[in-house]
Amino acid sequence: MPTRPKLGVSACLLGQKVRHNGEHAEARNLTESWSRHLDLVGVCPEVGIGMTTPRATTRLVKRDGRIHLLDSNNNTDLSQDMIDYAELQSDALTKAGICGFVFKSGSASCGLERIKVTEEGQIEASNDGTGLFALVFTTLNPHIPVIEEVSLSDPLQAEHFLARVEFFSLWLEEARGGWTANKIAQFHDSNKLFFISRSPNAKRNLGRLIAQAFDRGDHPENVAFEYMAAAQKSLNVLTKPGPIAHAMERVLGRISPSLSGDERQELLGVINEYRRGLQPRSAPLTLLRTHVRNCGMDNETHARFITPTPLRLDLLANV
Ligand code: SF4
Repeated sequence: MPTRPKLGVSACLLGQKVRHNGEHAEARNLTESWSRHLDLVGVCPEVGIGMTTPRATTRLVKRDGRIHLLDSNNNTDLSQDMIDYAELQSDALTKAGICGFVFKSGSASCGLERIKVTEEGQIEASNDGTGLFALVFTTLNPHIPVIEEVSLSDPLQAEHFLARVEFFSLWLEEARGGWTANKIAQFHDSNKLFFISRSPNAKRNLGRLIAQAFDRGDHPENVAFEYMAAAQKSLNVLTKPGPIAHAMERVLGRISPSLSGDERQELLGVINEYRRGLQPRSAPLTLLRTHVRNCGMDNETHARFITPTPLRLDLLANV
């Protein structure tokens, strides 16, 4: 596991006073907890396009079928400036190696979903927009996991997002030496338990994607990008205890010959209790980790699944 993955974050969430009213919107779980394990890179797109603090609010307006970002005070159209900035900043962030982005909810620039859009000349609005900066970033980077800060207050969503960030971080690490067909196949193989636990169909579908891409003669760099974009799309759906318990049982099956009958029964019992919601996920994982180590079977495949980062370990106690 590489140390301290980088995470892009809407700057106001990091306590920077960049909001339209001159205030911040600090998310303490990010500044006080996540910052101990991740490098948080703050970005304020509105300040980035030259807006002052304080300033007027911004809003999304639909005009001629296209979404525009307007200054609410004087209706100045900020769209092109924001698109240009978002393209440049996306490029800089990916070059810097960010492994995910936490966006501020409810913002016409940063919000990922449910942003108010008004049809020009009308009063009524729909709530189905995406902030313009977030829209450009996610369109250019479908392979990078993203989330809004409001979702992080749910430990299940926070833990799942972090797992996606770790997965992306490993992929970036591998990408450093350049991709080959073998490396992509090995990467997929070493993450099979991760997929079984988080998105069971993805394991088979991604294997097929790799095979078909190489049959077509695609360049390994393109295959690796397509692979990660498809993987993150599958991982966008929150996992359930069932698939996670199933992956634990797969590990148990591998180490079973080295365990006594009592140890096996104890492990099976704790996994079942987790499946039924009677134990947190950390309980069977801690037991599994101990047994896997004692059996000398802590290979990379198992390690990826049963050794969460300290930050994720904290969250696992609540899921
Ligand atoms: S929501 Fe985005 S644009 Fe608004 S203050 Fe925060 S970082 Fe800046």
